[in-house]
Order: sequence, then C-alpha cells, then structure tokens
Amino acid sequence: MSSSDGILLQRLPTSISSVLVGNGSSILVACHGHSILSTKTSNFALNNVLVVPSIVQNLLFVRQFTRDNHFSIEFDALGFSVKDLSTGRVMLRCNSTGDLYTLPQSNTSPSALLAASSSLWHQRLGHPAPAALDCLNKNNSTSCNKVADCICHACQLGKHTRLPFSSSTTQTAAPFELLHCDVWTSPINSISGFSYYLVILDDYSHFCWTFPLRRKSEVHQHIVEFVAYARTQFGLPVKCLQADNGTEFVNNATSTFLVAHGILLRLSCPCTSAQNGKAESTLRTLNNSVRTLLLHASMPPSYWAEALAAACYLLNRRPSSSIHSEVPYTRLFREQPTYDHLRVFGCLCYPNLQATSAHKLASRSTACVFLGYPSSHKGYRCLDLSTRRIIISRQSFLTSLGFPLQTAHPLPILPSLISWLMTLWILCLALLTLQLPRHRLGLLRRHHRPLRSERTLSSRPLLHCMLDRAGVVPCPRQVPQHLRL
Ligand SMILES: [Zn+2]
Repeated sequence: MSSSDGILLQRLPTSISSVLVGNGSSILVACHGHSILSTKTSNFALNNVLVVPSIVQNLLFVRQFTRDNHFSIEFDALGFSVKDLSTGRVMLRCNSTGDLYTLPQSNTSPSALLAASSSLWHQRLGHPAPAALDCLNKNNSTSCNKVADCICHACQLGKHTRLPFSSSTTQTAAPFELLHCDVWTSPINSISGFSYYLVILDDYSHFCWTFPLRRKSEVHQHIVEFVAYARTQFGLPVKCLQADNGTEFVNNATSTFLVAHGILLRLSCPCTSAQNGKAESTLRTLNNSVRTLLLHASMPPSYWAEALAAACYLLNRRPSSSIHSEVPYTRLFREQPTYDHLRVFGCLCYPNLQATSAHKLASRSTACVFLGYPSSHKGYRCLDLSTRRIIISRQSFLTSLGFPLQTAHPLPILPSLISWLMTLWILCLALLTLQLPRHRLGLLRRHHRPLRSERTLSSRPLLHCMLDRAGVVPCPRQVPQHLRL
C-alpha cells in the first residue's frame, strides 16, 4: 500500500474501494497499479499496489512480495534478508532499528520512477507536440511505459493550424544578446484583474518570461527590472530589444532608459507585425497552451493568468524545434531541468496545512485545485476551493482523480447534448402518440382531471402507456387511487 500514486508505472481502476485497518475503521482506496522497487543489486516487482492516500507509511505485504518475486525473506533482530528461493543467495540485506522492519530509501532510477503513459506525460507537460515528448524520452528525462495512440480532445479544441512566420536570420551567441518582446491583450480580465501580458523571449536560449499586466504602461517597469535581473543573476548585459511599434515600447521613458544602458531598440515596420515573428510565434504557442490547459481542466477563461504561468514554466522545460530540439532551460541555466514534480494542471490536490492548522485536531489539508508552480518557491500553487485563496505548499498530494472545477463549469458540449436528448425524447413521444390505439387513449382521457395544468397532464398518460407496455408499472387498475390521473 502506498499513499501516493507517484510510484505507479500505470494507474489502474480497482474493485477494492476500502481497506480495514487495525482500529476497525475503513480507509478509501484511490486506485491500484504496478511498481518496481529498485535497489543497488536488483529490481523487485511490486504488483497490485493499492494507493491509499490517508496512510502515513507505505506498507509491503510480505507474502505477495515473496510470491511475485520468487524470493524468501528471513527476519532477525537486526533486520531482514531477501534471498533467492532456488540458490539461497542474499539479494538484499536491510538493517533497521525500532519496531518496524524498514526498507532503505529507494534508489530507483529516475526513468523508472518517472514511468507513466505518454498520454499522462502529454498532460503533465502542458500538451506539447509529440516530437517534444519523443525527444524527452530519448534523453531519458521522462519514461513512457505505454504509448497511448489517441487524440487529445483538449488539443483539438485549443490548438489550430500554425501559420508560417518569417524566420529571422539573426544569429546570437549568448543569452540576452537579443530579446524579442510583445504584449498580448486578453478579451477578458483574469480573476486577479489582469488584462494583458508581456512576453520576453531570449533569442539564444528560447527561454521565455511572461508578466501579466493590468495596464500596458507597466511594460516600462518590467523592462527596467528585467535588465537588472539579467545583469545580477547571469552577469550578462541585455544588448538589443526587438519589439513592434506599440506605444508601450516606443515612449520617452523606455527610449531614455535603453539609450542610457546602451541597449539597441529594433522595431518592426509599421503594420508589419510578422517582422516581430519570434515574439508573435511565442505568443501563439503560449496562447495555444493556455487554451488547451484551461479546456482540459474545464476551467473558465478567467483563469488565463494562472494557466499562462504554468504554460510558460512547461514551455521552458520542453525541447524546442527552434534550437534543434534542445531544452531552453538547459541552454540558459546549463543544467537539466527535473520532471518528477510535474503534475496535471487543474487537478484535485491536497496541500499539507499542518503548520497553519488551528489546533491538533483540525484538518491538515483541504481540497484544492492545482494551479502550477510558484516562481519564488519550490512547491505547488493551489487554489482553496472553500476560501478562494491561493496556498503555496511544498508538500501536496496531487491526484489524478479529476478536475474540481469541472463540475462547477461543465463543458459547453453538455448543455447541447442535454437539449439534443430532450429533442429526441419529445420526438419519441410524438411518434408513440401517433401509434397509440384509439381506445387506449380514450381510456386514459377518462382519468383526466381538469384542475391540473394541461402540460403536466398531457405527458402523464403517455408516460404510463409507455411504461405499461414495457411492463415497468402496473396497469391503471393496479395503480393506487391517490396516484391515478
Ligand atoms: Zn493535449
């Protein structure tokens, strides 16, 4: 039994809904699956691992373990030994103290731990193109144990055919030599009141930064801060800025600042936004990703700023075809990003609130929506559904059980489906009316009571007839008096 589904190679539905524990209470089972326990000497199969979120220690069933691996286990006062059943050779020795026999911290290879279906990785990485996922698999950054050859519904809704942008011939040799900037205007305000966002793309690394804005005039301050960030964090100067002719870039304050710091400003020709191609392309990629993340999690568009932060975070960690399938994060920071903490945007999660709980008997978590990865903390951003406040938590139990905002905001396809079914139902009723024998209708009309509304009464006899024919309800004679029409 495990408290997290993170160790599973593949999540499977389980027929076991709960487990009885020592104090007599039942605890819920979320799912089950298979896993691998990897040690320095060998790997052991862990079959039928039950995921029970409320347990605090992972537990191993010794009988199943020995049966599945054809090993024996010998216990003694100092620990236990796992032995090959046929040769008697010790495959694993675990010494421990205390009342429990414990296994050492698993040194499972990241690729084994990261094994998940390609479909789940597609969702965790923010719906990238298949080539990006293939590239990460080849590099062993992620591991797919099952290739799901299915169409992603959210991708079909959220993305559309990419139009060609004019390719730039400029070659850069270091980060921050050339930055591409652009501002996108949102059709609706975000829940935090943002109406625009600024994107800055580094030409060399293809790493991008996004800044939600309430007003376009905030662009100047972000440029000033970004130049300082590049110099302090990377020791590199910003040499050139490429932008369109928007007044958020072409104004006295920004021009004076850029001249004072020796930064060139390259502007695209008026009404020729394609010349700012890389920034435009990045906006399109980000917006496609934002749309897809929101659709997949059934979240309303007002959460676009949250989805944007997650989309940008993931885009920087995915191989980019613009830099020969290298990863922007690796190009900028000269180290590989990690992927084991990625979870599906918008899913149900339970952050650990032990530190802020009112007293020792208060609940230690609350149901939240996973909103991405905070920039200044190593953890998860979670939206508390009851208080609507954002919680930053280092330790969260993120599930794949569903999307909490799905029920609050159903997909637009549902109302149309319901209305379609209603139309079909009415059509069936009309057809049955035409086929009903006259004497049957006459019999039913005799039970008509004028005090009830015509709408209610017109449907009841027909319904009774249909159910009567199917043998579901008794004939009118057997219906109790108070229910008769
Ligand atoms: Zn997708």
